[in-house]
Formats: sequence, structure tokens, C-alpha cells
Amino acid sequence: MNPDLVSSAWPDSLWQATAVVMDDSPPLAGPVETEVCVVGAGYTGLSSALHLAEAGLSSVVVERNQPGWGCSGRNGGQIHPNAKSLPGVTWRYPESDRIDPVIRLTNAACDLVFDLIRRHHIPCEASQSGYVMAIRGDAGRRYIEQWIDRWCVAGSQVDMLDRRRVAEALGTEHYDCGMFDARGGSLQPLSYARGLARVCLERGVAVYGNSPVVRIARAGSGWRVDTPRGSVSCKSIVIGTNGYTDSVWPHLRQHLVPVASLISATEPLPDRIAGQVIPGRMPVAETPGGIPSYFRLDERNRMVFGGRGTIFGRCGKLDTAALRRKAIRLYPQLAEVTWAYDWGGYVAITPQQRPLLIRLDRNVYAGLGYNGRGIAMATLMGSQLGLAVAEGKAVLPIEAPSPVPLHRFHPLGIAVRTAKGELTDRFRPRSTDV
Ligand SMILES: Cc1cc2nc3c(=O)[nH]c(=O)nc-3n(C[C@H](O)[C@H](O)[C@H](O)COP(=O)(O)OP(=O)(O)OC[C@H]3O[C@@H](n4cnc5c(N)ncnc54)[C@H](O)[C@@H]3O)c2cc1C
Repeated sequence: MNPDLVSSAWPDSLWQATAVVMDDSPPLAGPVETEVCVVGAGYTGLSSALHLAEAGLSSVVVERNQPGWGCSGRNGGQIHPNAKSLPGVTWRYPESDRIDPVIRLTNAACDLVFDLIRRHHIPCEASQSGYVMAIRGDAGRRYIEQWIDRWCVAGSQVDMLDRRRVAEALGTEHYDCGMFDARGGSLQPLSYARGLARVCLERGVAVYGNSPVVRIARAGSGWRVDTPRGSVSCKSIVIGTNGYTDSVWPHLRQHLVPVASLISATEPLPDRIAGQVIPGRMPVAETPGGIPSYFRLDERNRMVFGGRGTIFGRCGKLDTAALRRKAIRLYPQLAEVTWAYDWGGYVAITPQQRPLLIRLDRNVYAGLGYNGRGIAMATLMGSQLGLAVAEGKAVLPIEAPSPVPLHRFHPLGIAVRTAKGELTDRFRPRSTDV
């Protein structure tokens, strides 16, 4: 892993500069007893603790750094319904009758996020403006047709935007067409994570920072979780470490491949430019294929432009240069503004291209693998992990561990795909049929 992305210091991100302020969580010191120990204070861990509290179960959260330090405080802030993968195609379960409840559940994942924010008064610049999937080329159109076919069941609807409408909404002629999904939107990611942490604290959940879990072992009929200066005795464990998963649970890291995603962000755009860039003000993600970018304006009209990281995962000004070049190709006006922030993080890619809820051992569960779609899906996963612990079942199927074969060679595969994607992206022909 690259030191830029795993240093315990906060990244030099727009979100770190503008998030609601929160006191540091103290380290765990000494022994603590609780029903559930949650490892990792991102959306997965914090949403789990919150849902456990709502189910009447006590928990503590132990975090290597501080709440929101991982992807939950670094992402693009785009709230997407569902996953990129297609139910029944890439998203398969052994029991095919499980898929309908899963589709219905994930179709409502955005609403879960906005509902939590409203119910708990979390200040995080949340806006349910909808979002646009931007399409260029025939492969993108085919993917969207399949996506609509597979995901839009049980009343969920999206609108197709033709070339003229997508250009009006986004302020660029770059795309052939688009899909508008009114359920999506955006938020300030670190403020959302800190808001969830604050609500956990208000519900009596202790949140410990600077407390890396170094060992998990059986203790009588339960478990003992050790950090350098303290320990948690508990009946159950939830692991929510996603792209930052270490070796604390054997072979858990082999369920995913961490892939760097980088973001570059501007200072607030001058009014005359802001009106021309994404006039519809919704977040935009490109269809998979090539090196898809994602971008949006934040509340103060800063352009936040992200995409797949460099092969070596660094995230300095040089490494984000390709992102800025692409942003300027789409919006030539951005050539004259100051790009003030560059940062990145590790997205957790799973070979199944969907999140995994895994039962690792008796009363030990992990939820991870959002493939870059974690705001809604990790929040949802927290509710499912809460159910799994409280009732031993959930709507998402609880799966057995299945480490990726030849895991250590996968980063090489990603590097090759990144290089190939960069070429495809640059030379992709436009669709003729729109
Ligand atoms: C650059 C970037 C852009 C993205 N953009 C979007 C987007 O626009 N929309 C979207 O929906 N998703 C996006 N994602 C994905 C999304 O951010 C993640 O899927 C989501 O935040 C995952 O949440 P999490 O809680 O599972 O993991 P994380 O937020 O990464 O939290 C895991 C935590 O576990 C902790 N940890 C690890 N090991 C230990 C240990 N041994 N002991 C204690 N703690 C430990 C880490 O310190 C970390 O804080 C993006 C990701 C990146 C990197």
C-alpha cells in the first residue's frame, strides 16, 4: 500500500478543510465489556453501532485512527442507489430466489441515508438532487440498458436523457446520453461520518480513536479484542475495515483488492464559470469501462473531480494531473481556476463486484466491498450487520468466507486494466445511435 494513502495523518482533502469539527475520540485504555465490538469507524462500523443501539444491543467502536479517517472521510460525496454490478449478471447468489428482496433493499439505500440524516439532524450539506450516469459510446449505452432492466423493478424509475438534455444538465457536449436517477444526491462525506459518530455517542456507544485492533482471540464463550493499551470483551464482533483491512482476521484481506482512487478539487468557481459547469448541479458518474471519472460541485461551487488512481497509488499534484486534464477537456473554463486540494483513498473492489456480508466465525461478521459505491451501500450494510448480530439473519445473504484465489497477483491485473482503460478512455468512439 502506498504511504500517501495509509499515513495516520488526515489527508490534505477538501473535506478535512471544511467538515464539521469534532473532538478527537480518546484511545481505548484498559479493559471494557460490551455485547458487540465494532472494528473500524467508517460508515459501515458507525452505521452498525447505530443500528445495534436501535436494536437494544450495547457496543463499542475501535478505530485505528479517528472516525471518518478511511474512505468515509475521503470519497467524492456522491450518493448512488444500488451498485454498479447487475443483479443476476455480475451480482449472483447461489439461491436465485434471494435476489428480489436484495434489489428492493438496495433500491431504498439512498433513502436510508437521507432518512438517517434528517432523523438525527446530521449537518453534512446533504442534497437529494438526483444524480446522472453519463454515457459515451455504445458499450456504455448497452450497460445502462441492462442496468435499468435489472435494477428498475418494484416501482423504482429513472429517466433517460438524450444528447441535448444531458448537455443541458451537465454543461458539456462530451456525452452521448445519460441516465438521471432522482433518488441519488450528494453530501460532505467527512461531516456525514462525524455526524454518525456523534449520534453513536449520544446513543451511549463509546467510540475509541487511535486504537488499532492488533489481535482477536476467543475468550470463554465470547471474544477478546486487543488494542495496544486496552481490550474489549464481547459476545460478538463486527469488522468494517473495507479497503483498509489488515491482517487482524486471517484471510479477510484476501476477499478484496484495494484500488487507489484520487480526487482533485478547485477553489470556489467564480460566478460566471459556476453557472456554466453542471448547471443541473447533480453529481455525475461515468459508466464503467475505460477509467470512469466522477465529478460534482460542492455547496460553495468547488469542482470535485475524481477517478481511478495511478498504478502506484500515490496522490500528489503530479498524480492527479490526468484528472485535471480530463476535467478541462470537459469544461475548458476550468483551465483558469486554482486546483487547491489533492487526495485519495483505497476503494475495495471484490471479484463479485458487489458488497459482501461474511460470517467469519461464531458471532463474528464482516461487511465490505462496496466497489466505490459505499455511501449508501455501507450505511445499508450497517443495518444488515446489526440484524445479523441481533437475529442471526439479514436481508442481504450472509455468506461463508471465500478468499480470492491467487490474491497477491490481483494488483497486477488492476494495473494492466488501468493502463488499458486509460487508452480506451482517450480513444473511445462516440455513439452514433442517439
Ligand atoms: C477517493 C474515493 C472516492 C469515492 N467516492 C465515492 C462516492 O462518490 N460515492 C460513494 O458512494 N462511494 C465512494 N467511495 C467509496 C466509499 O467511500 C467507501 O465505500 C465507504 O466509505 C466505505 O466505508 P467503510 O466504513 O466500510 O470503510 P472506511 O471508511 O474506509 O473505514 C474503515 C476504517 O477501518 C479502520 N481500520 C482498519 N484496520 C483497523 C484495525 N486493525 N483496527 C481498527 N480500525 C481499523 C480504518 O482506519 C478506517 O477508518 C469512494 C472511495 C474513495 C477512496
